[in-house]
Amino acid sequence: MTPLSELAQGQQYPIAALYVVATPIGNVADITLRALHVLGLADRIAAEDTRNTGQLLARYGISKPLVAVHQHNERAAARRLIEHLQAGERVAYVSDAGTPGISDPGAKLVDAVREAGFPVIPLPGASALATALSAAGDWVATFSFLGFLPPKAKQRATTLQTLATHPHAMVFYEAPHRIVETVQAMADSFGGERKLLIARELTKLHEALHRGTLAEGPAWLAADPNRQRGEFVLVVEGAQAQAAGEQDHDALLGILLEELTVSSAAKVAAAITGVSRNTLYTRALALKKDE
Ligand code: SAM
Repeated sequence: MTPLSELAQGQQYPIAALYVVATPIGNVADITLRALHVLGLADRIAAEDTRNTGQLLARYGISKPLVAVHQHNERAAARRLIEHLQAGERVAYVSDAGTPGISDPGAKLVDAVREAGFPVIPLPGASALATALSAAGDWVATFSFLGFLPPKAKQRATTLQTLATHPHAMVFYEAPHRIVETVQAMADSFGGERKLLIARELTKLHEALHRGTLAEGPAWLAADPNRQRGEFVLVVEGAQAQAAGEQDHDALLGILLEELTVSSAAKVAAAITGVSRNTLYTRALALKKDE
């Protein structure tokens, strides 16, 4: 087998640089050869949780000085790490699992290191987001990543309402103790017919991928208490682009109809949107009748 150092060549690994390194989201084998090479080269590894990362590194036979960089100390820790970069060190940053900066600390450190004039070098790898999407299917060809919804029911419902007409598939992360109520809240806000993928415990022993609709999601989760345990990614179908577009057209026609005749409103709306005048005329007529 080709040695690791040779496989990871093809790029230089400069000193005085921050390496942002993705780690596994469950299965310890899901780390790249290049990540292992860089973690081996690093003078220091900054980690969201030094105990977890210490255990992970031990599995790969890597032992390095570890520095804690988490949500609560990211700016202060960044200043200290910049001193190490100024001393010419290679510093690696890993979050607890997956890709740093994706619903994880790392972004503030990246900003601070860039502002201080040092290179930031990303090493791709596992992320629950990409892993779930890769098994979702054609309906997620375009998507938006929303991360965690607000934990409080009222704020969550408000956020979901604002997303109800979002045309692309939406990817969310969710904690096990909120999974059932969140899927129910999505069904309430988006309607039960939309496609839903529940991706649970990806890459782990109890991995499960359930494809269904929002309406049947809560019942699937409730059917077995084990289904509500672990880590979750939820992928929800977007509002049909056409339906979202129609709502926008209605809003535009509504404004125009306050000042113009049905025919003129359709003509102006057609010029703005590029939609056929006849289609908009029919719609404007219907809106006028509903008044
Ligand atoms: N940075 C990570 C990434 O790249 O995916 C995400 C970190 S975020 C703090 C943790 C959340 O990601 C979990 O609550 C869950 O929603 C999702 N997640 C992480 N690992 C997962 C897995 N193995 N299966 C399903 N979801 C996972």
